[in-house]
Amino acid sequence: MSADTLVLGAGIIGVSTAIHLARRGRSVVLVDRRGAGEETSFGNAGLIQREGIVPYGFPQEVGMLVRYGLNNRIDAHYHASAIPKLVPFLSRYWWHSNNVRHKAIANAYTPLIENSISEHADLIKAAKADNLIRKDGWMEAFRTKAAMDTEVAEAERLGKVAGISFTVLTADDLARVEPHLTGEFVGALKWNDPWSVTNPHGLTMAYLAYFESLGGKFVNGDATTLSPNGKGWQVSTADGMVEAKEVVLALGPWSEDVTRKLGYSFIVGVKRGYHMHYAASGNAVLNNWTMDKERGYFLAPMEKGIRLTTGAEFADRDAPKSPVQLERAEKVARTIFPLGERLDDEPWMGARPCTPDMMPIIGKAPRHDGLWFAFGHAHHGLTLGPVTGRLIAEAMTGEKPFLDMSAWRPERFKA
Ligand SMILES: Cc1cc2nc3c(=O)[nH]c(=O)nc-3n(C[C@H](O)[C@H](O)[C@H](O)COP(=O)(O)OP(=O)(O)OC[C@H]3O[C@@H](n4cnc5c(N)ncnc54)[C@H](O)[C@@H]3O)c2cc1C
Repeated sequence: MSADTLVLGAGIIGVSTAIHLARRGRSVVLVDRRGAGEETSFGNAGLIQREGIVPYGFPQEVGMLVRYGLNNRIDAHYHASAIPKLVPFLSRYWWHSNNVRHKAIANAYTPLIENSISEHADLIKAAKADNLIRKDGWMEAFRTKAAMDTEVAEAERLGKVAGISFTVLTADDLARVEPHLTGEFVGALKWNDPWSVTNPHGLTMAYLAYFESLGGKFVNGDATTLSPNGKGWQVSTADGMVEAKEVVLALGPWSEDVTRKLGYSFIVGVKRGYHMHYAASGNAVLNNWTMDKERGYFLAPMEKGIRLTTGAEFADRDAPKSPVQLERAEKVARTIFPLGERLDDEPWMGARPCTPDMMPIIGKAPRHDGLWFAFGHAHHGLTLGPVTGRLIAEAMTGEKPFLDMSAWRPERFKA
């Protein structure tokens, strides 16, 4: 089989990229070793984070580092045995998170996020996936006035510099919008612009169906078999060898498995995360995507039940699951909302694909013709799938990309 373009990896990034290429008349074969959207894009918190223009930095204050070092928190956890291997990534991540550099990164990152809703809106409409989308923002609830004041001040800043819309809710307001929330919250901050997805896997599948309706083909295959073949690239799939002139690597946390073989040595890491679904007890209802901000976990009222998602676990990508954050979060969550029984047999785990400067790698490979990179979307891969897909497709087909892509080019890392 042959095509114009191979897209390797059928998470939200790969599927979105495949759509944008197919829309531009390319014949596209999308390859994944599993079904589409069954890895990281399966289990996220479902937010299209239009407010998320400041990527999550590594703590800078010594006190905070010491607290994280104790390894007993909900929002972050680490495997001590993995630290030596993680030092190159973590030290660079820490360096890029310094106040001045972090601000510059947020400025460079903003255009991607600014276009997240409009680019999803385009694909959601085309894929007829409106039934999976809510357009009413998400909420952070606070236990202390100090934490709330800090976040409200930041929201006011974001409102001024980037037009981010938010609403401050008093404790009484919060009790009105979330009558079953039982935590002792002093108030909440609602980000008004973001959209949420009630079934992130369902959205990727709807996008896949749209891609196929454009003539695209999805096949199972192993991206690590990718090799140049003189005319372009080839990869081994269940349907035999597939050849194409160009290839996009969109393998999320597994991208390194292929880039390393091709001679690139990006220093990347993963932040693993977990989820579990719960029933609500009795007639309790959770209306909003809600974060218990000071504890650092999320409750999302999804199609399957209330999805609790956890923060960052620093560990070897392939180490066995260790859902201690989920256990800790569940205990606290049960004190703020009447959660019923668990609905999954075991916790789901995914791995956010991270770069040290908190921005994805989007662009042409520096040392290979016909090879393109689209990975490293960290906490915002769902948010940025369609934006990334459009940019890559425009660059590949010779259109002027609708955003200046220089901030996300692979060459910014010596790899
Ligand atoms: C707990 C949690 C909550 C999150 N919440 C949000 C959120 O609310 N909003 C948001 O924007 N983002 C969120 N994220 C991040 C988001 O889920 C990821 O950034 C995004 O899913 C990455 O998409 P991807 O397509 O790059 O990777 P993936 O979805 O992991 O796709 C990579 C694909 O590559 C395939 N693959 C791997 N190796 C091979 C191989 N050798 N051969 C063939 N195929 C291969 C895999 O099977 C997989 O399908 C969250 C992540 C986690 C863990």
